[in-house]
Amino acid sequence: MRKKILAANWKMNLTHVEAESYVETFLNEVGEVNDVEIVIIPSFTSIPTLAQASGNAPFIRLGAQNLHWEKSGAFTGEVSATMLRALFVKYVIIGHSERRALFGETDEMVQKKVHTALEAALRPIMCVGETLAEREAGSFQKVLRQQVEQGLKGVPVEHLSEVVLAYEPIWAIGTGRTATPAQAEEVHAFLRSVLAELFDQTAADRTRIQYGGSVKPENAEELMREPNIDGALVGGASLDAHSFARIVRATEKTLR
Ligand code: PEP
Repeated sequence: MRKKILAANWKMNLTHVEAESYVETFLNEVGEVNDVEIVIIPSFTSIPTLAQASGNAPFIRLGAQNLHWEKSGAFTGEVSATMLRALFVKYVIIGHSERRALFGETDEMVQKKVHTALEAALRPIMCVGETLAEREAGSFQKVLRQQVEQGLKGVPVEHLSEVVLAYEPIWAIGTGRTATPAQAEEVHAFLRSVLAELFDQTAADRTRIQYGGSVKPENAEELMREPNIDGALVGGASLDAHSFARIVRATEKTLR
């Protein structure tokens, strides 16, 4: 069975001081969470604070929003896998559409980052997704297949399930426009079939595929009920501890 995974992508929001009170509020609301994996992904500057604030809540895992593929060196402004590991980071977002669109991240760079993360025992949350134009042109399956194939090229089959694939249709990110559960499920099933083709069915069945794109407390439950949707990568609605806690509770409800 794949354990559902909910990740809060704070993007460039919240200071380390705000992060501390967020965790306090969040923990008060959710109590203990056993059946869903929770990942909080703040800015780099808040990672140490979060590590400390969530110290008594082992079900909270820490994530980072990016890393560089090199181990160290003259790469001003970049952060390495070793640095993240030293702060107890477990997950790292790779290839978010904002990084692809605004910072020129290519499939080749995504691939290098995925390998670097896995070699450092970090779990990549590798994002893929189509634009509205690609969806309307009917070419989105081709686009997604290419992103998956390129991003995961060379990953040993036995390591595939350490990767979380995040399906984030670009037209649904931060727009308030969510894919319907049926639309998302169709793509998730397609992505799993691509993984089976590129690796094998067992590995594909073990790998979690998250949905991301305007997930909020009101739509989380119906999305999380779909058989191939193994969690969510949440942007805007994760910035408020109450609202992220409601998404956790909605997801727990689907397991009862
Ligand atoms: C994201 O950026 O990963 C995301 C899904 O954002 P939002 O939930 O705000 O659409």
